[in-house]
Amino acid sequence: MAFSGWRVLKEGLTGNKGWAPHWRDAAPKDEYDVVIIGGGGHGLSTAYYLAKNHGISNVAVLEKGYLGGGNVGRNTTIVRANYFLPGNSEFYSHSLKLWEGLEDDLNYNVMMSQRGQISLFHSDGQRDAAIRRGNSIRNQGDDAELLSRDDVKRHLPYLDYDQARFPIYGALLQRRAGTARHDAVAWGFARGASDRGVDLIQNCEVTGIDVEGGVVKGVQTSRGAIKAKKVAIIVAGRSSQVAAMAGMRLPIESHILQAFVTEGLKPCIDHVVSFGMGHFYISQSDKGGLVFGGDLDMYSSYAARGNLPLVEHVMEAGMTLMPMIGKAKVLRSWGGIMDMSPDGSPIIDKTQTQGLYLNCGWCYGGFKAVPGSGYSTAHLIATDTPHTPAARYRLDRFFTGRGLMDEEGTGSQHNLH
Ligand SMILES: Cc1cc2nc3c(=O)[nH]c(=O)nc-3n(C[C@H](O)[C@H](O)[C@H](O)COP(=O)(O)OP(=O)(O)OC[C@H]3O[C@@H](n4cnc5c(N)ncnc54)[C@H](O)[C@@H]3O)c2cc1C
Repeated sequence: MAFSGWRVLKEGLTGNKGWAPHWRDAAPKDEYDVVIIGGGGHGLSTAYYLAKNHGISNVAVLEKGYLGGGNVGRNTTIVRANYFLPGNSEFYSHSLKLWEGLEDDLNYNVMMSQRGQISLFHSDGQRDAAIRRGNSIRNQGDDAELLSRDDVKRHLPYLDYDQARFPIYGALLQRRAGTARHDAVAWGFARGASDRGVDLIQNCEVTGIDVEGGVVKGVQTSRGAIKAKKVAIIVAGRSSQVAAMAGMRLPIESHILQAFVTEGLKPCIDHVVSFGMGHFYISQSDKGGLVFGGDLDMYSSYAARGNLPLVEHVMEAGMTLMPMIGKAKVLRSWGGIMDMSPDGSPIIDKTQTQGLYLNCGWCYGGFKAVPGSGYSTAHLIATDTPHTPAARYRLDRFFTGRGLMDEEGTGSQHNLH
């Protein structure tokens, strides 16, 4: 089933009766070439690129709930390529380029909106850091512009510029950054993978990983045993629990990240805006809701809902930056389980078990990585060699201390991310 403007018009005029399900609801087979554990954005994009780029379609994606029910459908949808460090810089650059062609590639409307991201700074020191980051982004070949205080005022007239504690000095703008509709991204990759022969199996929880003589043999699931030549663990906040099934102890902590959405309002925020002095960022959805979030809940948890002290913290930051937000009514809040790595950068690597691969450590920034991560993980699984943009995402950097990518400058302290 191909989507087009003509098809939408025709279906609209004939009662929308011609749409078929977007993917096959497959039953598990006894054996696959590749089993992917986790039907989030990263698992689905890996399956898609395995089939599309490498012709490997005897693949199953096993999802314990429903496709898109994890973080891929819970995030605040920001897409950008403004990372600083070698390793992250080229990876996110590659991912953003894939985003820019994704709707054509998938023949699916993921509502990609390159509305620009404005990261504010509030001191001379922060300006220096922003200039340095901007130069490094431009060296990578991506776009970054330094905005003066007056430039920012023109773009964002509703901010509080004379706030005594956190006056706004200027900002770094990335015009190609923006937002996309999160669950549509999962559905688009699911549809593309299914069309190419991948089995998408929902309500199928992996409960064990079978390893014999250091070689992976398959998985145990709530729907029976499945043999596999290769198995990939791509389960975001559940990474430590699933890796433990293969006897691995990961350098990952799981923390909750909350998000909030207000009632629908007339268009008032045109960009993604990030506060430089507190954890707060905001954009406006196409339905009009203000979508915003802040910092992690500061202790490890597997509960997909947050706690009130962080709610208060985020609301305070919002009120500090843009007092007008106080008039909006919050409709919903929710949480997702983040797979926090010690240096804030992800892992895409083989493991010590032959045929077992690991994709995790996306912290609170893995939505923008979905296309790039799937592309690179598929390459790794298909060829057993790292894909160049993701070559630094090695697991052993946490054992050797070599090659750490401390993007936030926080050191190996999860609570400072
Ligand atoms: C509130 C919030 C805001 C965020 N904002 C942004 C943002 O603006 N920009 C950005 O880039 N990133 C953002 N993120 C981060 C981003 O959402 C995640 O990094 C990314 O979605 C994680 O990868 P995923 O999509 O594969 O994860 P998930 O969608 O969580 O996929 C993992 C899947 O594995 C399944 N699973 C787990 N265990 C098993 C098992 N035993 N058997 C079978 N299946 C299993 C889960 O059910 C789940 O569906 C945000 C996250 C949250 C929660």
